[in-house]
Amino acid sequence: MGRGLKRFAALTGVAALGAVAFYRWQPQRYQFFERPVPDDDPPLDPAAEYLFSEYSSVVVVIAHPDDAEFYLGGTLARLKEYGARIALVVTTDGDKGYYPRVDAEKNRVVRRREQIESARMYGCDEVTFLGYPDGRLKGGPELVRQIRDAIASFGPEYVFSFDPLYPPKVQHADHLRTGEATAEAVKELPDVEWLVQFSTRAPNFAVDITDIWPEKRKLIAVHESQFTGRKLRFIEDMLRNRAAADGALANVPLAEAFRVVQREH
Ligand SMILES: [Zn+2]
Repeated sequence: MGRGLKRFAALTGVAALGAVAFYRWQPQRYQFFERPVPDDDPPLDPAAEYLFSEYSSVVVVIAHPDDAEFYLGGTLARLKEYGARIALVVTTDGDKGYYPRVDAEKNRVVRRREQIESARMYGCDEVTFLGYPDGRLKGGPELVRQIRDAIASFGPEYVFSFDPLYPPKVQHADHLRTGEATAEAVKELPDVEWLVQFSTRAPNFAVDITDIWPEKRKLIAVHESQFTGRKLRFIEDMLRNRAAADGALANVPLAEAFRVVQREH
């Protein structure tokens, strides 16, 4: 190999290592090998009439303050309308501490306050923060145990979390770890009848949020530290487009789609 070629090879190697290091540092994960969506995948009704009633109880397990409003704000507003009991478990502190130039301490305080405020708006007064570092959530038995205990103390029939099996092509690593750990935790909770998963490529159930869309917008806007001004409008447009796409599944203008899994006993 000539000197020029050697140099080129060395530089290419450094660039490749740099790209790998950057990919590992930033928290988004690309699904290189996507699990194909099942061919025969009929709709599944998670006893929706019971879910949307004053008798049901629901625990939502998320990774960051704002995930719940973002992925299922309309459904949460609907649950409030019917008087369901709702509790929230947030696995990370959402402080973005992995970025070199953020005030992580301030983020922790502000985002916690925003989450408590928005949760109150859908009648959820039990919010558990597990406090793992944002963007760096690792799975494992300790996380599973903490999620399991938080769910068990509320005693729900329904647990909502991220879909770990059919996530979108690009997904936040904290979302994947939270979804995986919740699916594991639920295995040890025989009273949980339904696992309802959001951020999924394989929805089999949708909640009509057409008339409650303004409520979802209000919930998103509470997270001021994340979304204000043009960014808020951008996020609202994005969520509206997503709701319209999910609505097509259910033949309604706007919906939130889920992958429902019934527990085997
Ligand atoms: Zn998130």
